[in-house]
Amino acid sequence: MFTRDLRVSDHPALASAVAEHREVVPAFVFDEAILASRFNRPNPTGFMLESLADLDASLRRLGAALVVRRGDWVTETLGLAAAGDARTVHVSEDVSAFGRSRLDRLVDRAAAVGVEVRRYPGVTVVPPGTLVPSGGDHYKVFTPYHRQWCRTPWRALVATPRRVVPAAKVPSGALPKLSELTDGPRSPEVLPGGETVARHRLAGWVNAHLHEYADRHDDLAGDATSRLSPYLHFGCLSPLEVAVSAGAKPGGEAFRRQLCWRDFYLQILAARPDAAWADYRPRGDVWDTDPEALEAWRQGRTGYPVIDAAMRQLQREGFMHNRARMIVASFLTKDLYLDWRDGARHFLELLVDGDLANNNLNWQWT
Ligand code: FAD
Repeated sequence: MFTRDLRVSDHPALASAVAEHREVVPAFVFDEAILASRFNRPNPTGFMLESLADLDASLRRLGAALVVRRGDWVTETLGLAAAGDARTVHVSEDVSAFGRSRLDRLVDRAAAVGVEVRRYPGVTVVPPGTLVPSGGDHYKVFTPYHRQWCRTPWRALVATPRRVVPAAKVPSGALPKLSELTDGPRSPEVLPGGETVARHRLAGWVNAHLHEYADRHDDLAGDATSRLSPYLHFGCLSPLEVAVSAGAKPGGEAFRRQLCWRDFYLQILAARPDAAWADYRPRGDVWDTDPEALEAWRQGRTGYPVIDAAMRQLQREGFMHNRARMIVASFLTKDLYLDWRDGARHFLELLVDGDLANNNLNWQWT
């Protein structure tokens, strides 16, 4: 089952499924619960659809089309297992409360019908829960986490399957159009989704710009960062492969440090699922309420040029530089003294890389 790991390269769940079984059902289920949520918005969902189309093309080259279904994720997954006479479901582990409870539900219902569910790494460089401080269940501070993250051995990259043999009895189904999933326009300048463009972008960026990353990644106007975040969020790229390919090259260490921030927040959310929307470190804030100021911030009409430019970039591109995110988040929470959750929600509706762990915990960090 594909979830937020929309690629064929360095995909432990896919590689194991192909290695262990003669036939497989490479599938993606559009989960009605996610489609019904407020985060099913044109920017992220459109990016995901393009990524699924690219995944389908890659799988077809390997011999099997992507099997697509829509409905209750657990019911549809078990329906596919039954249709393909499958005894095992291979799936990547996720961190959010929603993702984990969905997987737990699958494990329970699968056991009742004699189907085994196997969970794999692939969403982070170092799986959440691997690094644990003495006397705690997760790292709360970045520096010691980073130290451990640099010391720990990483798993080996897994090879892309050479051939995927589909279960003949399972029809593939077609990918829906974006208008069948959500309404409203996409931002005019969003990045295109998919593993193919992601790999081009990674290779081009590592060759041309990684060497200057350490000096330039905080230069807001320089716009010299990789813009790989949406590809990492939807798993079009393996974070481990990105970390390895940045490797020992000049700039690689500073870049890997940022990938470590990503892992850091994902391991916090895995340990503290409530921290998505509740204060991770409560400070007794009693936020102001000012709908007009909030709307002006959203629309980029505060009168502060750097804030307004950044917020309009978000509307136009579904993206913002890290420094810009920090500045507008700081403005909302410290200058306007409005609740970080309102800002986080707005970001998740527009960002193509909108990620519960990295968005909401970065908001809290700010
Ligand atoms: P690069 O500088 O090229 O970094 C490489 C990769 O490292 C990124 O793609 C990303 O995966 C990771 N990374 C970099 N900085 C951070 C960071 N501070 N925290 C965690 N991971 C990081 N990132 C998201 O992926 N999704 C979000 O929803 C998100 N929301 C944010 C909200 C706020 C308020 C702030 C301050 C930061 C947020 N970030 C989020 C982190 C960061 O801003 C983006 O990851 C980064 O700007 C993406 O651009 P890039 O790919 O060019 O980054």
